[in-house]
Amino acid sequence: MVTRLGILGGTFDPVHIGHLAAASQVHHDLGLDRVLLVPANAQPLKPAPIASGSDRLAMCHAAIANDPRFETSDVDLVRGGATYSVDTLGDLRKAHPGAEFFFITGADSLATLPQWKNYEILVTLATFVGVQRPGHSLEQLDAPHVLVDVPALAVSSTNVRDRVRAGAPIRYLVPDAVAQYVEDHQLYLGGLHE
Ligand code: ATP
Ligand code: MG
Repeated sequence: MVTRLGILGGTFDPVHIGHLAAASQVHHDLGLDRVLLVPANAQPLKPAPIASGSDRLAMCHAAIANDPRFETSDVDLVRGGATYSVDTLGDLRKAHPGAEFFFITGADSLATLPQWKNYEILVTLATFVGVQRPGHSLEQLDAPHVLVDVPALAVSSTNVRDRVRAGAPIRYLVPDAVAQYVEDHQLYLGGLHE
């Protein structure tokens, strides 16, 4: 049997329940074996992350510690430099020969897919799976994709960071282990770019 692997790439600064609920639903609906959370090193279309790569990976790891459906992968952090999904998929294909890949993307990032590096090649390396995200339309997208209905959770990492800075609770928006990690490591307390 061919291994069916989901990939959820992102900054994960920090990982939150929107990421996890979407990945969980795609795992179920598409009958995936596992979903890999792959923290980006530096995303070309976004400002630099606030937390370090090792903190972001550790939070992903903590978030999924009790869930055998999920794994983390450090391929993008190890490769370093700007993270391009075509390179992510190249590295993951080497690590998982013969696997079939499903690249999970929220409506906001799916909208930018035609601008990603080596787009024509990229769409042949994985099935792109679009998931809704409150505030972003999944209609009129040029990129080829399948759609999976996921619970609409209006939570973002930006929102979680803003809440930490403002002293508001993040419990139930992130797994308890992630809230604990943020507190223990005093993440996100400073200005916009620490
Ligand atoms: P930031 O606010 O820092 O941009 P984010 O919450 O958008 O963070 P990312 O790490 O940028 O999180 O997102 C990684 C992937 O997860 C993207 O494909 C994004 O569309 C998707 N995603 C993030 N949050 C949600 C959500 N609440 N529902 C569905 N998909 C989501
Ligand atoms: Mg984002």
